[in-house]
Amino acid sequence: MSYISDVLHALEKRNPGQPEFMQAATEVLDSLEGVVKEHPEYVKNAVLERIVEPDRQVMFRVPWIDDQGVAHVNRGFRVQFNNAIGPYKGGLRLHPSVNLSIIKFLGFEQIFKNSLTGLPIGGGKGGSDFDPKGKSDREIFEFCRSFMTELYRHIGADVDVPAGDIGVGGREIGYLYGTYKRITNRYEGVLTGKGLEYGGSLARTEATGYGLVYLTEEMLKAKGNSFAGKTVAISGSGNVAIYAAEKAAQFGATVVTMSDSTGWIYDKDGIDLTAIKELKEVKRARLSEYKSFRPKAEYSTTGNVWQIACDIALPCATQNELNEEDAKTLVKNKVIAVGEGANMPSTIEAQEFFVKSGVLFAPAKAANAGGVATSALEMSQNSQRLHWTFEEVDAKLHTIMRNIYHQMAAAAEKYGHKGNFIMGANIAGFKKVADAMVAQGIQ
Ligand code: NDP
Repeated sequence: MSYISDVLHALEKRNPGQPEFMQAATEVLDSLEGVVKEHPEYVKNAVLERIVEPDRQVMFRVPWIDDQGVAHVNRGFRVQFNNAIGPYKGGLRLHPSVNLSIIKFLGFEQIFKNSLTGLPIGGGKGGSDFDPKGKSDREIFEFCRSFMTELYRHIGADVDVPAGDIGVGGREIGYLYGTYKRITNRYEGVLTGKGLEYGGSLARTEATGYGLVYLTEEMLKAKGNSFAGKTVAISGSGNVAIYAAEKAAQFGATVVTMSDSTGWIYDKDGIDLTAIKELKEVKRARLSEYKSFRPKAEYSTTGNVWQIACDIALPCATQNELNEEDAKTLVKNKVIAVGEGANMPSTIEAQEFFVKSGVLFAPAKAANAGGVATSALEMSQNSQRLHWTFEEVDAKLHTIMRNIYHQMAAAAEKYGHKGNFIMGANIAGFKKVADAMVAQGIQ
């Protein structure tokens, strides 16, 4: 359709050198032909042109001093993409690969993901090219304090509520929250993923991984299948990967792989999650040390986890970590379902191959929405000044993930793409935001 390709061409021209952002925008816009045809008011109100342009992009200097007294400068980002349905909401990523293109792709995806949760949250994302690996606690604190010294001007409980992402866990959120509080003298739910002692929600740590498995289970159930008795390959060994593995095992599956950026493990009898938690959550160590817990497990620094035969694949590390070749290997090995835990872990070619091959494929913006959904539940608890039990939050998360599955399945079917949940998630996520944007006028 020429309207959509015109918007994408203009976008590319205006944003040279932003391949990740263009990939995310192309993937979403290419699925909107049917819905745009049905709603001429979206064209009249320039909804597509407006939705691909962030409301605001903040970039700033983050100076800090290391333990040797040497000064460093990193770059900080916060992209406030769209607040048509609620305050900006999205994580902060600390990783040396971070740049504007990556933050924009993540912020753009976040708009639709947040809409799918059914909760009142808009889309945003932020972070820095700071590398937390190998840094002392004091250096992490120093960085977080410097980062928040600028960020605090742009956020607020009803404005923009950041959370964790790659490289940002409970420790970093604590330092960021402490700094925000000190500068503003306000005790408010301005960040999520907080510690339980100071406003955090039970089940937030588990939420993205658990939610991924809840949604994938619902997708399997619609085909009369389930996790029980299945072999599962997982990539990553961070927050999402660990709790996806935990819930998959609770549902009766055997998780046989995990990875980090230096290598991957294959433990055919089932990954020992206590060992993984000890290595990753306590010692912040490399996965290569897993063999000291399980000598029979295999550790490799070549190839990747997708070469291991499995029934269900859950990519939970980072963007573009699963390409077309990997998809072909998985299909050859008879994978039946793929659920994306990481953001945009499959390349567009890999996604297309899965769909063409009849693999049940749950795209990230639906499958990993459990984290942000539970963050929104943390915001609700902060506003009420109440704490809900683990069971209450987990039950709400489970219901939200089931609803997301049914929303995306219904939207796919309605617009002639039955079983294509990439299309379904994009359409369902987009429609609510688009309608809100039309209702609010051209802003
Ligand atoms: P963590 O930092 O806890 O873990 C990330 C994992 O992925 C680590 O095992 C890390 O290995 C690995 N990894 C990171 N970058 C690379 C890379 N370039 N190549 C290979 N491996 C890599 O992050 P999360 O688990 O929180 O996030 C994982 C993914 O899930 C991200 O895409 C994130 O955006 C997404 N996500 C996270 C949510 C959350 O609630 N945490 C919510 C929704 C999405 P190493 O330790 O060696 O770097």
